[in-house]
Amino acid sequence: MDGSAQAQTSGEAAATTLDVVIVGAGFAGMYMLHRMRGLGYSARVFEAGDGVGGTWYWNRYPGARVDIESQEYSYSFSEELEREWKWTERYASQPELLRYANHVADRFDLRRDIQFETRVTSAVFDEATSRWTVKTSRGDVVSARFCVMATGCLSVTKDADFEGAGAFKGKTYHTGHWPHEGVDFTGQRVAVIGTGSSAIQSIPQIAKQAAHLTVFQRTPNFSLPAHNAPIAQSTVESWLANREANRQAQRESGFGSIMMSGEERSALEVSDEERRRIYEECWAKGGFTVIGAFSDLLTSKEANDTASDFVREKIRGLVNDPAVAEKLLPWNHPIVTKRPCVDTGYFQTYNRDNVSLVDLSETPIETITAKGIKTSAQDYAFDAIVFAIGFDAMTGALGKIDIRGRGGLALKDKWADGPRTYLGLTMAGFPNMFIVTGPGSPSVLSNMVVAIEQHVDWITGCMAYLAERQAGVIEATEAAENDWVAHVNEVADTTLYPLANSWYMGANVPGKPRVFMPYIGGFSTYREKCIEVAAKDYEGFELTRA
Ligand SMILES: Cc1cc2nc3c(=O)[nH]c(=O)nc-3n(C[C@H](O)[C@H](O)[C@H](O)COP(=O)(O)OP(=O)(O)OC[C@H]3O[C@@H](n4cnc5c(N)ncnc54)[C@H](O)[C@@H]3O)c2cc1C
Repeated sequence: MDGSAQAQTSGEAAATTLDVVIVGAGFAGMYMLHRMRGLGYSARVFEAGDGVGGTWYWNRYPGARVDIESQEYSYSFSEELEREWKWTERYASQPELLRYANHVADRFDLRRDIQFETRVTSAVFDEATSRWTVKTSRGDVVSARFCVMATGCLSVTKDADFEGAGAFKGKTYHTGHWPHEGVDFTGQRVAVIGTGSSAIQSIPQIAKQAAHLTVFQRTPNFSLPAHNAPIAQSTVESWLANREANRQAQRESGFGSIMMSGEERSALEVSDEERRRIYEECWAKGGFTVIGAFSDLLTSKEANDTASDFVREKIRGLVNDPAVAEKLLPWNHPIVTKRPCVDTGYFQTYNRDNVSLVDLSETPIETITAKGIKTSAQDYAFDAIVFAIGFDAMTGALGKIDIRGRGGLALKDKWADGPRTYLGLTMAGFPNMFIVTGPGSPSVLSNMVVAIEQHVDWITGCMAYLAERQAGVIEATEAAENDWVAHVNEVADTTLYPLANSWYMGANVPGKPRVFMPYIGGFSTYREKCIEVAAKDYEGFELTRA
């Protein structure tokens, strides 16, 4: 072990020497730190924010909540933690999720190895020493044997790059970095730009406060009702009584979630009446259950149409004004091929007198003005504008760090045509670097806490294996990476996903390569592949002594 001694590196700054640097203190970074301590490794986490929780630290907009059931979206690694923490709602709200993250940090005494308000700016591999030199915005220099990127798939917000941005004299907010003290919109004229998940969650809440809310919609979205409610004691008891089996069922499911696991049958093999009955039952249960109802909704357009039509019909039924309902209907992508949303009263919000909808496909935004927003049809005046415009997903956070592997190869050059990884965990040319839920892994297409635990456990196992073999360095081979990238693409092409202009495809960021980034082969299939690779002495990797 390296301890955390001070050592002098070539020249200027004194570098702290560690076994592991972890970037990010969301659910991934926190659990990674815990496991590193278990291995007896010295580790430090660098976190840009001033607290733990990642997504749930930054996204404090009104209405923010998880859309996987709370007990499913929680750590499984500690039975004691699971038994002592009491979720209060079926879908935990952001404040509750943040309290949970803080509880975990305190319970496992994580904070003493987390340096907050510190952004990692570069990570450079030194071939002579086989170590990573990591530098931060505060001038830290760390020499580490391993570098683990727990930087998050949705942690870099998209810029509001509208013409005239900056001209507006009122207040502007981005859902992805909401003020900690909250915002009171009472009596205000508010604009929300966007109709993705954050918008769909925040719009009903903002509408309750604002004098008037105008929603600017570029792309209508599918959304399913959460039917959120306090968690019944009987649900908690039954979950805990079957804890082991439930956790295993999550790991062996397609999306890391029991709730989303439907039966293995085609939507086309049942009668129209039976299909409708099943969809109605799922709709009444709430959450993502509708999209888990049949096994071919992702692969057959005809099957998908049955679910898409069902949800469009529901939207028509929820919105009083048929003209508004028509604008809200998502026609331009099959359900699920963009991240579906889960809401509490989203469509019904358009029945309020103080809410209006602007369809940007008819009247695009021309410019932000000092007073508000000018579309091709009209000038709107506002007191506040909320940008709910999403994230530079999956590669955004890594792209902001100057990462250089063997021969000084910059990650941004390696990924110029889209991300390339082996298993979404490692990259050829970047030895001893790991990404938690990186592109090429199920990541955002799964219950992410389950995906995070699986990755952190795999990385920890890999490090333990290296120690056992007295190998200092592990690196994916080019061949294994090429095969994996080909497989990821091949599987994506068998689905309907590439049909949508989604952030899964990088389509929401101008200039970003259009590549399907997550792995859609199924969480359980992926997990088995990772287990198999490890069992075959880390097949597809080269191991060397340092
Ligand atoms: C609004 C919203 C709702 C979501 N809902 C769900 C859901 O219902 N179900 C689900 O499974 N997933 C959901 N997600 C995905 C969510 O991101 C994951 O579930 C999970 O929280 C990711 O944890 P993480 O630790 O990997 O990343 P994050 O929580 O994003 O944490 C990454 C951390 O790294 C830090 N960081 C990044 N770069 C640097 C750097 N260079 N230096 C220092 N620190 C850095 C960031 O500040 C951040 O705190 C949601 C995401 C968002 C944005």
